[in-house]
Amino acid sequence: MRRYGIDKETRVKIKVRNPIAELDGDEMTRIIWKLIKERLILPHLDLALEYYDLGLPNRDRCEDAVTREAAAAINRLGVGVKCATITPDADRVAEYKLKRAWPSPNGTIRGILDGTVFRKPIVARNLRPAVRSWTRPIIVGRHAYGDLYQAVDFVVPGPGTAELVFTPRAGAAGAAAGGGAAPAGGAATEQIRLSLHEFTGPGVLMGMHNTDASISSFAAACVDYALSEKVELWFGAKDTISKRYHGRFRDLFAQAVEERQAEFAAAGIAYRYMLIDDAVARVLKHPGGILWACSNYDGDVFSDMVASGFGSLGMMSSVLVSPGGRYEFEAAHGTVRRHYYEHLKGHSTSTNPIASIFAWTGAIRKRGELDGSPAVAAFAGALERATVGLVEDGVVTKDLVELIEPRPASYQSTEGFIDAAAERLGRELERTGA
Ligand code: NAP
Ligand code: MG
Repeated sequence: MRRYGIDKETRVKIKVRNPIAELDGDEMTRIIWKLIKERLILPHLDLALEYYDLGLPNRDRCEDAVTREAAAAINRLGVGVKCATITPDADRVAEYKLKRAWPSPNGTIRGILDGTVFRKPIVARNLRPAVRSWTRPIIVGRHAYGDLYQAVDFVVPGPGTAELVFTPRAGAAGAAAGGGAAPAGGAATEQIRLSLHEFTGPGVLMGMHNTDASISSFAAACVDYALSEKVELWFGAKDTISKRYHGRFRDLFAQAVEERQAEFAAAGIAYRYMLIDDAVARVLKHPGGILWACSNYDGDVFSDMVASGFGSLGMMSSVLVSPGGRYEFEAAHGTVRRHYYEHLKGHSTSTNPIASIFAWTGAIRKRGELDGSPAVAAFAGALERATVGLVEDGVVTKDLVELIEPRPASYQSTEGFIDAAAERLGRELERTGA
């Protein structure tokens, strides 16, 4: 029996007090998932997993009930770890002979947990980001409601008058932010009508919105996550131009931070509001180690910029944080379909399992923190060091070959990389436990 000093009590497996919700998935990531669990996690942790099979065949069998049950389990347990899943389109309905095109599991889970998604790159010393100053992760948090994405737009055919009209619901005493001088908070009883543009010819027109509830919930999730990661929080908008719309975002964000000011001070982290163009300029010269909260459109654009700047999809992790303090960890990439089809043909694959490994370590660390079990959180750290350590020694899957310096002469198979990680993890645990 191997003995690891990391757990002083049993010196065998580290006991995890409370269960984690485990959400299995599809295709290549489902194969990787099982290998990670069997070779990297369960040999070392005495861990109860509440298993939900979100693989597409099972979602179809139970008419997607399993997705809702899994979301409820994350709500109840506080921590979940999810494998990538297929969001079926017409081709997938035919391929898997589905009863119907089930909705995106991530969308369903996000709807139930009311969460915000944060994407965090996994960094290694020899994996040089395209931006030279980036040495620590830049985490992007994207507001996933409203603005451009729930807008109504329109091609104006010719001359005419464009107006914005708000009609208060009869008897409603709630807040209505007028476009005029009236501050938010006053109940509107009269219809509000604002002139937008006098068209003298054809053009385009768009109306977009957001809600205080959604903005505040986004801000609260960002505050939670910045505190949990102990990183500086940035938020950028264009309130010099959009004094009311973006100004409302700025104010609600400031309010969410103000409520937790004492915790920010205790964690030694700061909140910075800046103009979005200033934020973009600064982020390219910054070493990283920040959470960049972005409004919906900015997050769509800048999360892709940051992801591609850091290198590979296989090195991007993702976490859904709900304002109630529930966490769901996953890889940012999909099910890596092309590699799966190669695998089905019996060909060897070289799929990067690191983002999936970090989904597990994220969940395990969070479980340890919530349970007050430092040894559990330390295990997560050991597995992350073992994995990144391999990359830093030039032991990588094919996707990283072109990205690391010096360029390695060969690359590992999917399973070969996981076995190398298992071996190095054993050594890491012996070293830290000694
Ligand atoms: P994908 O899984 O993200 O993979 C796209 C390409 O990126 C791969 O073919 C591969 O490039 C590269 N790649 C991604 N992850 C990699 C890894 N770990 N190691 C090495 N290379 C990696 O997207 P997809 O294959 O187009 O989508 C498959 C399914 O994933 C879809 O049905 C979609 O619905 C689903 N999806 C799920 C989630 C989620 O559950 N969170 C997110 C996105 C997509 P090469 O082929 O060049 O090697
Ligand atoms: Mg995008």
